[in-house]
Amino acid sequence: MPDRFKAVLISRDEDKKQSVDIVTLSEDDLMEGDVTVRVEATTVNYKDGLAITGKAPVVRRFPLIPGIDFAGTVLRSSHDDWKEGDAVVLNGWGVGETHHGAYAERARVSGDWLVPLPEGMSAHEAMAIGTAGYTAMLCVMALERHGIDPDRGPVVVTGAAGGVGSVAVAVLGKLGYEVIASTGRPHEAGYLKDLGAAEIIDRDELSGPAKSLGRERWAGGVDAVGSHTLANVLSMTAYGGAVAACGLAQGMDLPGSVAPFILRGVSLLGIDSVMAPKALRLEAWRRLATDLDRDKLAALSTTMPFDAILNAANDIVAGKVRGRLVVEM
Ligand code: NDP
Repeated sequence: MPDRFKAVLISRDEDKKQSVDIVTLSEDDLMEGDVTVRVEATTVNYKDGLAITGKAPVVRRFPLIPGIDFAGTVLRSSHDDWKEGDAVVLNGWGVGETHHGAYAERARVSGDWLVPLPEGMSAHEAMAIGTAGYTAMLCVMALERHGIDPDRGPVVVTGAAGGVGSVAVAVLGKLGYEVIASTGRPHEAGYLKDLGAAEIIDRDELSGPAKSLGRERWAGGVDAVGSHTLANVLSMTAYGGAVAACGLAQGMDLPGSVAPFILRGVSLLGIDSVMAPKALRLEAWRRLATDLDRDKLAALSTTMPFDAILNAANDIVAGKVRGRLVVEM
């Protein structure tokens, strides 16, 4: 009798109506892969919220265990890079979308998708960072590659009190940037200042229709919100600046003008974490181990039990989650 374990499972009936249950599975129920991992911690990202609530077609195969990221220990491996006992992290690659995901005590995946847990980092800390934090670091690295250093002027972070935003504020603050945090939750001003924000602005300033060009307010930005907000951020970016765009919390559209690009030489840097090449992932996780203060990470994360995943999924889509959530298995 194989080991049985608890998992979240998303199913669909003949009418394509989605249901989500907590079920008991065995390793025989997992999909193909050359590495089996004991999942020790996972998290609830915005995308997991979309998957569980069914608000966007994140899950494209049914029934499916959701959960786009995990940290854990290798139990069995026939992949050259991994052996029993290795501590690993997984983000993306379709896990929790088309391949059984993190919301189970076991995961079977391709060894090509795994990266080592950074030295000195716990599984819990890796999931306090999670895909949101790793994406925030990809955004920071993209701005750096574009030459946006702290001397160029302030940088704006939108959706600042969310997961991507909180980690971006903490990392940029530690690296010496003057961070302007845009939030719809003014009561989180103290939280954002403690993380490293120099200034807080109300997200209403950015959420309406954008002018073609606005006053030059920042050298760059990390945008987790999209839509009018991204259009406004671009229109207020200083000459030669750049904005790393990773999210769609306000919407997937981009109702803006080309004016910032053709009159100010502003660049829009697209950030995808799901299929990001391994070298970039390794660099992002190496940087997260050094450029994100652990006390700030603890301050921006909340630990919750497995059974709370379904409620947390609703909360994150409703914009009610502050910072990051860690699920202890
Ligand atoms: P969170 O829900 O934690 O954060 C999103 C934040 O956006 C909210 O906390 C809120 O911040 C703000 N927000 C929510 N709704 C609106 C709205 N209608 N208008 C303006 N602002 C809004 O999500 P995550 O941080 O986990 O993810 C952020 C975005 O990044 C998501 O769209 C997610 O899908 C995307 N993402 C993309 C990745 C990629 O690979 N490109 C990887 C990871 C995430 P506040 O209250 O401070 O205003």
